[in-house]
This record gives sequence, C-alpha cells and structure tokens, in this order.
Amino acid sequence: MKFLPMVLALLLSVAAFADPASNEPAPRRIWITDVTIVSPENLADLARGSVLIENERIVRVERKVSAKPPADATVVSGEGGFLIPGLIDSHVHLASVPGVAPELNANPDAAHAAMLADYYKQLPRSYLYFGYTTLIDLAVVNRQVLDDFRRAPLHPDLYDCGPSLPLANGYPMSFASPALRFQLFPNFLYDPAQSASIPAEYTRQDHTPAAAVAADKRAGAICVKTYFEHGFGKDRNLPIITPGMAAGVRKAATQNALVMMMHANSFEAQQFAVDADVDVIAHGMWNWGALDGQPELPPEIQTLLDRIVQKRTGYQATIQVMGGLRAYFDAEYLKMPAIPHVIPAALLAWFDSPGGKWFRKEIDEDNMPDAEMREGFDRGPIRRVRQVVGYLAARNANFLFGTDTPSAPTYGNLPGLNGYLEMQQLHEAGLSLEQVFKAATINNAREFKLDSQVGSIEPGKVANLVLLRKSPLESVDAYDSIVTVWVHGKPISRNSLAVSPNE
Ligand SMILES: [Zn+2]
Repeated sequence: MKFLPMVLALLLSVAAFADPASNEPAPRRIWITDVTIVSPENLADLARGSVLIENERIVRVERKVSAKPPADATVVSGEGGFLIPGLIDSHVHLASVPGVAPELNANPDAAHAAMLADYYKQLPRSYLYFGYTTLIDLAVVNRQVLDDFRRAPLHPDLYDCGPSLPLANGYPMSFASPALRFQLFPNFLYDPAQSASIPAEYTRQDHTPAAAVAADKRAGAICVKTYFEHGFGKDRNLPIITPGMAAGVRKAATQNALVMMMHANSFEAQQFAVDADVDVIAHGMWNWGALDGQPELPPEIQTLLDRIVQKRTGYQATIQVMGGLRAYFDAEYLKMPAIPHVIPAALLAWFDSPGGKWFRKEIDEDNMPDAEMREGFDRGPIRRVRQVVGYLAARNANFLFGTDTPSAPTYGNLPGLNGYLEMQQLHEAGLSLEQVFKAATINNAREFKLDSQVGSIEPGKVANLVLLRKSPLESVDAYDSIVTVWVHGKPISRNSLAVSPNE
C-alpha cells in the first residue's frame, strides 16, 4: 500500500494545476547551477552541484553535476563560482552613523540632514553589497531607524536585542547629557545607591532586571544586552552592574528564552561575564588591566580563556573596534576603493573635511603624530586582543562573527566594508578560514536560535545566498569577490547594490 499516498499526492497536485479557479501563482523557481556548494555543515564534501530555490526557500541541494532542473525553473549559471549562505553580523548599531556625533545625528541642521538621509537610504544595500543578509542590532536607541530599514525595498533580515540594559548613569548612558540619557536608554537597571540622580518618573520596580528583560521580550527582542564597563578617558569611574543584578538578568533571560549578551572588553569584565554565565561576550579582550604591559598572554588570562572555551561562551572578537579608531591616523584608510561603493559621496566628502575629523581629537587629546598613534594601537590593545583571539582560535572557541559597526562615532567602521575588514583581522589573529566562515554563518545562526531559517545551504531554509568568484576557504579576499546576492530568493547583482552602480 506504499504507493497510495503517492497516488493521492499526485492526484491532488494534478487537481491543483487543473483548477482554473485557483489563483495560486506558479512558484518562482530558480536553479543555480555550476557552483561549488560551500555550506558549514558539509565542508568535508565540497561538491560541485546545483541548488533549487522555490519562492523564498531553498528546496533542493544537489551535490552532483548530473542533476537536472525542473522544466519550469529559470536556470542561472554560477560559472564555476562558490555558493555560500548569506553572512550574519550579530553586532551592529544601525541608528548610529559612522563619523557623526550623536547630537548631530539626533538634530541635524538642513545642510547635514540630506547627507544623513542619503546614508540611511544606502545603509541596507551596503550590508548586502558585502554579503550580509542577516543583522542583529544590540541596542535599540531609535526604533524608527530600524522600522525604516525593515521597510526598505531591499534589506538584510534584521533582529534586535531591544533597548539595552545599562546600569543607571553607567556606560554607555554616561556619554549622553543627564537630560538626554534616560530617553536614549529607557530600559536601564535601577541602582538604589543613585536614586538622587535618577529622574522621579522612573520607578525602581519598572527597572529591576526582571522588568527590563520582560520589556525587551514584549518589544520582540531575541536577545538582551547589558554592560560591564568602568569607562575610559574622562569618564573612567562609572558605576557598574553588581553580581546580583547580573544574576537577575541571567535568570530572566533564561525564563524568556532570550540570549544574554554582555559588553566586556577587559580581563576583569570578561571574568565577571563568565562568572555571570552570559551566553555571549560582545567584545575581544584588549584591556588586561595591571597586566597590560606583559608581552605574552599571562597564565591567569589563559585560565579564564580556557573557561570560555569549555563553557562554549559565544565570543565576538570585534577587533575592528580598535581598527576603527586607528583609521584616523592612517592616511590610506579613506582611500580604500570600496568606500565610495558603500558611502554616498556627500558623506564621504564630509569625512575628508576638517569638520568631519572632529572625532580624531577625541581619540588623540594630546595631538600626537599619526605614526606614534598607530604604533600605540598596534603595540597595545591590538596586540593584546590578537593574542587573546589567537589563543581562543587554537582551542576552537565558539566564535560569533560580530563587528560592532559603528562601535563609536568613527568613520573607521563603515557598513558592510567593516565586516570584510573584521574578517581580515580575525584571520590575521589566528582564525582559520573555516573558523571565520563558520563564525559568520552557522555559529551565529545557532547561538541566536535562527538556524531553522538561515546559516547553511539546506532544504527548508530561507534562500539567502551569496555567489562568490573565489573560495572563502582559500582566501579572505573571496568575500570581496561577490557576484550575486539572493535575499529571500530574489537575486540582486552586487554592482546594483553600490552607491553609484557602474554601467
Ligand atoms: Zn556595540
């Protein structure tokens, strides 16, 4: 009786096709062929083959050249290229504009308003231009920007952690004026020791860890983000989250099935994050505190990194946070040929003007020469984070690809391009090309519970795909050899995503 269901299925499908009243449109089928399929669950079997997309989904993956397409499919030849799943950047800040002060972004004069509007219009396309089809925004400070992004005609899938959970008047609230900071970070954690400096309209019971996490859950978040940061520069003694508060966030995040993330970039902070049992550490460790001057990775830091490996804590190295600051002291940075493809001309011209370099003074208060500043970064925080990342890579830690774009109002973190630069940083710090690839695909998908939808090339998943001319397992350059990006099954040529597409 095995044939009976098959016969029934056949009859039903014939009926569906025969019914003239049916207004179901025929599914749009695209057969991508003559490609090497590079998917993270199957890297041992890099076969040439074909992939069938039906509307928004992947429906067949054929790892042999002889497979034939359905008669009604549009055949697209990959011309011997490499097909990978769309890339995932799990740490972005879409409402912040690289190089632009938050005050100017919030309140632009007429001259700057058009420049910013052009930037936001191009933003989703710049991420797609470098193959990013899924993004996670870690701290919603302006919901409107995210809504607009999701309404753009072409855009990556966007998830968020909702408004983040800083400690009242702690990092990063402290950077906004006392009047503005509670508006930008309405989901802060209440600190009874500071009740005098918290406006009366915010009550303690609305700002417990449980209440703050619940607010993010109601807002549709998939994660929550909190911070352990003493601060830097003028603000280096900020109030910090207590172990009790972190435990409250941990408990509520688990109850609400949200991923718990913590901003932590020092030895002390990452120790705190591991003790708090966070799911994801949102930065690499470039501050070693009293151990900063040690030339080799100190044993006490190794012990902590061993725990991070063993607990499979998600680790976002975000080395480009430092690279993005260093960019102000590197005359070659703004000359990169990719920049005019991802940044509109007016904003790029402004970056290169005296007014556009305001942030440089914030980084280099003592006005040191460029070469000294570059050396300071290279021998200090960049060296330290590379040593940490190399150690973790050798033990195959759970790396999650996240760029923190932009991590500060720096033009050194540009959408899309910053991901490509971060991949170079990771590879130079010791991640294999396979580790980089997995971090930006399946590791991110699994950690954020998106793996039923994205992260690999398998039947049933969303057809977010990228066609490369070169293999991502042979060079990082491959990620800049994009030909076509499919977003929910819709093919887009890379060139058409650039600011000014070539004819
Ligand atoms: Zn961030």
